[in-house]
Amino acid sequence: MLNYSFALGVAVSSLLICVVNLIYTFIQRRTDKLQNRLFIAILCILAVNAACGIVSAVFGGNPDLQAGRSIALNLSRYAYFLTHTALCPLFFYYASNVSFVSTRLTNKNIFLLSLPFFITELMAITNPFTNWVWWLDENLEFHRAWGEILIYLAALLYFVLAFIVVLRTWSFISSKRRTSLIFLFIMVAAGVLVQLLNKDLKVEVLAEAIGFTGVMMSVENEDDRIDMGMGFYNRTALSLDIGGCLTNGRKLKLLMIRIHNSDLVNRLVGNGETNTIADILSDYLKSVVPRYYIYAAEKDTFVITLYSKSFADAEAIADRISTRFDNPWDYGEYSIQLNATVVLADIPTQIKSTAELAYMIDSPTPDSEGRRVLKGDDLQFIMRRHAVEDAISRGFAENSYEVYYQPTFHIDGKLHGAEALIRMHDKELGNLYPDEFIPIAEQSGLIDDIDEYVLEEVCRFLKSGIPEKYGIDNINVNLSVLQCMRPGFVETITRIVESYGVNKHLINFEITESIGASDYGTLSRVIQRLRQQSFLFSMDDYGTGYSNVSNIFSLNFDVIKIDKSLLWGAEKSDMGMVILENTIRMIQQMKKKILVEGVETAEQIKLLERLKVDYLQGFYFSKPIPKDAFIEYISK
Ligand code: C2E
Ligand code: CA
Ligand code: CA
Repeated sequence: MLNYSFALGVAVSSLLICVVNLIYTFIQRRTDKLQNRLFIAILCILAVNAACGIVSAVFGGNPDLQAGRSIALNLSRYAYFLTHTALCPLFFYYASNVSFVSTRLTNKNIFLLSLPFFITELMAITNPFTNWVWWLDENLEFHRAWGEILIYLAALLYFVLAFIVVLRTWSFISSKRRTSLIFLFIMVAAGVLVQLLNKDLKVEVLAEAIGFTGVMMSVENEDDRIDMGMGFYNRTALSLDIGGCLTNGRKLKLLMIRIHNSDLVNRLVGNGETNTIADILSDYLKSVVPRYYIYAAEKDTFVITLYSKSFADAEAIADRISTRFDNPWDYGEYSIQLNATVVLADIPTQIKSTAELAYMIDSPTPDSEGRRVLKGDDLQFIMRRHAVEDAISRGFAENSYEVYYQPTFHIDGKLHGAEALIRMHDKELGNLYPDEFIPIAEQSGLIDDIDEYVLEEVCRFLKSGIPEKYGIDNINVNLSVLQCMRPGFVETITRIVESYGVNKHLINFEITESIGASDYGTLSRVIQRLRQQSFLFSMDDYGTGYSNVSNIFSLNFDVIKIDKSLLWGAEKSDMGMVILENTIRMIQQMKKKILVEGVETAEQIKLLERLKVDYLQGFYFSKPIPKDAFIEYISK
């Protein structure tokens, strides 16, 4: 009777494993998603199977237990087959769910997919009358019948389907999960095989229970997908999940909520540790959709996935969320106004790849003219951005870049210098302007090449001696602040300029004021080192940022370029005039030279003469023009 005590031990172990798994699943409260519920159902089936195994072993191994022996053995076998037949289909459903396989199958396909299950389940149900699957002889010994082969074949089919589903989504499963899924497949296959070869070695349920323990530890445990502080899924999880949906043809709508004033809010009420915005929004978002549909993609950007919702439903939700932002949010003792844009996108018609999803999250949301829900054609910006980035990267190979020059003048009208401004002529997109492609180049890391290209072009031009001949004091070259902070920046600049043998005081670097919360220490050292070599520096776009004035002036610029918006504002209102006058007076007291940009009319020149600025730049004199045209312009 060794085989009965063996079977009993195995069945008891299996039951214990299932029960422990169930207990942990409940302790961790992983019970709210469909995926979790399927997992629990699988564990319950395995627990019932293990219990049946215990009953079979106890009664099968004890012929003395006459009372109820036949009933117990018959019932336990019956219960086993009724439930076990559902295991593989359920596992297939689970794997599909984890992999985001489309749930929108045609009725015919659903029918075909479920057919093997229905047939085998029906055979198990009717077995007491047919004995097609199994039967017990007069000694109550268990015998397999041909129907059991069918049940195994159906199980094999679902098993293979589950395997295919997992394989298709391979690249969107973390390696930890992959390993545990492979382990599960191997365990199940081995268990079934052993039991098929020798029906006394009843290890199938045990193997499955152990396999699913692995699944619980990796697939069901989502610690690596969840941002613990916020309780939302993280960006990696978002990209994996949407990747899974895209490969498996799962359709969904996506809501992206972008908070525009998060920096300000963090500065006002943040404690530097938790994500304040997530804290503020957490309860509200969870009241709109269950938590497992919410992702925190960035500290100011949240994404909600909406499965099986029509576009109209999704629109209604987007509008509701957007309207909520009309009212302030309570946070501790504060009442906070958040500015938000909601983007509604359809997957896969509008977002076709995880790269496009990343674009949408990383690119600034376009100006929506007061509307705060962007949808449909508003989303063209994603495609455009994609196209522009491609154009930037092929730009050097295809000679699409060109440097234009815009002259600058002394206040008395004498020629002073020029600003070098990049242009791009792409064969597909036509002429592109830096306002569009420079921010994209900055984000994709291509800005270094562009700025070096401009510097080399300017050096080449200066080397020709033409600018000096016509009285150009220096040429201004724009620098991206990000680039200035990079290690080795000073050396790179020096190497380029020295390789052309150009006088360094002929080059004036412009750095924009909207440096934001940059590291002034590093920037100040970079500027100091380059100024020591006699390069000049201008502060660009003064008056557009909100920088700390004393920080700005600690950077020691030669020229402050006042942004065109200040000049134009002075013409529009008395208030604007006060701002311009006082800004100029302050800079003059700091003993810095002033250049005003955006000069378009003779009246503006009169105003600026009165305010005694030093230099002028603007369309009144000339737009930025190609080098040859510029040479012609200054030669006159
Ligand atoms: P910016 O440095 O403030 O350049 C001045 C911009 O104002 C130029 O636009 C110029 O064409 C425009 N502008 C000049 N005078 C007038 C005027 O009287 N009226 C009007 N309406 N506009 C005027 P552009 O060339 O499109 O450049 C836009 C921005 O792109 C630049 O602003 C600069 O921040 C960036 N940029 C341009 N070239 C480069 C470059 O080589 N490297 C880097 N890093 N950034 C660049
Ligand atoms: Ca500039
Ligand atoms: Ca400027």
